Amino acid sequence: MDDCIFCRIAAGQIPCDKVYEDEQALAFRDIAPQAPVHMLVVPKAHMRNVAECERDHPELVGCLFSLAARLAAQEGLAKGGFRLVTNCGPDAAQSVDHFHIHILGGGQLSGRMA
Ligand code: 5GP
Ligand code: ZN
Repeated sequence: MDDCIFCRIAAGQIPCDKVYEDEQALAFRDIAPQAPVHMLVVPKAHMRNVAECERDHPELVGCLFSLAARLAAQEGLAKGGFRLVTNCGPDAAQSVDHFHIHILGGGQLSGRMA
């Protein structure tokens, strides 16, 4: 999708601080970090959110969460802990309509979820 920022990052048209890449996924650091460590895991193929991923590529949901947990450990977050979040749709304030999982950690996070 030409007008999707994460599709353009996945296509190499917009630079990112990449931490991981394989055939189906990409992980990079968030441009406006909300924690000392803030990374995003995205599928390379365009899908709007976790609900659309579950509908069209159900096996990918688990793969991407598994990758997110692995990258959190790789980043040294396993001991202190970390948070995986995916916003889905307007009520969740999803701002980029390309499925992504936030990996947040590296310090004490807020106890509030919403
Ligand atoms: P959402 O609010 O949709 O769950 O999260 C979107 C995230 O994407 C935000 O944390 C925002 O900072 C991040 N983001 C938006 N545009 C870019 C970009 O061009 N590059 C990177 N690395 N992150 C971005
Ligand atoms: Zn996209």
